Amino acid sequence: MAGIYLHFPFCASRCVYCDFYSTTQVGKGKAYVKALCNELKLRSGYLSSNGQSLPVETVYWGGGTPSTLGTGLMEEVFDTLYATFPVVQDAEITLEANPDDLSAEKIKAFSKLPFNRLSMGIQTFSDDKLTFLNRRHTGQQAIDAVKACQDAGFDNISIDLIYGLPGQTAGQWEDDLDVAIGMNIQHLSAYALIYEEGTRLWEMRKKRIVEEADEETSLQMFDLLIDKLLNAGFEHYEISNFARKGCRSRHNSSYWKGIPYLGCGPSAHSYDGRNRQWNTPNLELYLREVGCCASPEDFMEAAWIEKEQLSTAERYNDLVVTALRTCEGIDLSSLRHSFGDSFAAYCLRNAAPHLQKGSLEILPVSSAFSEGRLRLTRKGLFLSDGIMSDLLWVEETD
Ligand code: SF4
Repeated sequence: MAGIYLHFPFCASRCVYCDFYSTTQVGKGKAYVKALCNELKLRSGYLSSNGQSLPVETVYWGGGTPSTLGTGLMEEVFDTLYATFPVVQDAEITLEANPDDLSAEKIKAFSKLPFNRLSMGIQTFSDDKLTFLNRRHTGQQAIDAVKACQDAGFDNISIDLIYGLPGQTAGQWEDDLDVAIGMNIQHLSAYALIYEEGTRLWEMRKKRIVEEADEETSLQMFDLLIDKLLNAGFEHYEISNFARKGCRSRHNSSYWKGIPYLGCGPSAHSYDGRNRQWNTPNLELYLREVGCCASPEDFMEAAWIEKEQLSTAERYNDLVVTALRTCEGIDLSSLRHSFGDSFAAYCLRNAAPHLQKGSLEILPVSSAFSEGRLRLTRKGLFLSDGIMSDLLWVEETD
């Protein structure tokens, strides 16, 4: 199995915290779709094993803001996608959308395309905070957009929220969570605000215009998040992700399971099961080079594609930081099988102090041949960065 990520690098304006690759040149959608379709065709062989194409089980339209694209252009992408890859019949097909794009007309048009999941960037329902973040919608618009999508038949909706906003209190965060829970959504992703270098938010902190939330408040908010979502019947299946039963994000779960994926568009990453590669984040270059590239060989050799050959230690480290984020944790038997006894012993040795302190646990698995699953406890969730870094393989230097 495999996944496809399609990057749409256009946003009507830039949010202050965002470091994803996107531009405000929204008028270039047509030229972009032509180049993107060409990339899909050029890379038709990327997702294969022993000469056989892998079935594509998830497709994720992300960005940027793919919902800014006209539906005619979306159809062109779908036509190319289905003609080029074996997309399975019940594939999860997600569209990232912003509430301000979701007019009644657009929602109706989206519902006629193969999308069966919406991921909506809402971030908060507080109008003051939305203005500060330079979002283009109000809290009420977000609520109305979710309802309108549900009325149009979308029954798998995820929303993104951010906590730890400057000046945000635990009570205000609780209000956001109450609104979210009241919307009858299937999935919620919640992230602590990060001050990424190069963003306007980073500059604001540097100039002391804003102050970062202190650790105690952030932890209190994370605690509230978990308590409230669990009480509302959601499953906490990954550090930042909560789902109703049967509604986990299949696409993101495949990243955490190390399943191969193809990423198309500037800045998109790909992983073939052993190595990673990514496209340079530059729209002009992408339009110029990919739009007229004629052969897969030329594409793969292009200077603007960066490649990374992963060593065994790097693949082990990838597994630690992805699997440990999930409620399943690390399957110790498959770790031993894939990486050998030395990596398995290293992992358990470094996990031992955390097992003793109760921040990691080993869940027994029913099979007699299984060593169980190593995973974070509730206490460990709050300390996850430190625990993961203790489990990472560090090459010894002389
Ligand atoms: S809409 Fe999304 S991708 Fe665009 S700037 Fe805002 S957060 Fe970033």
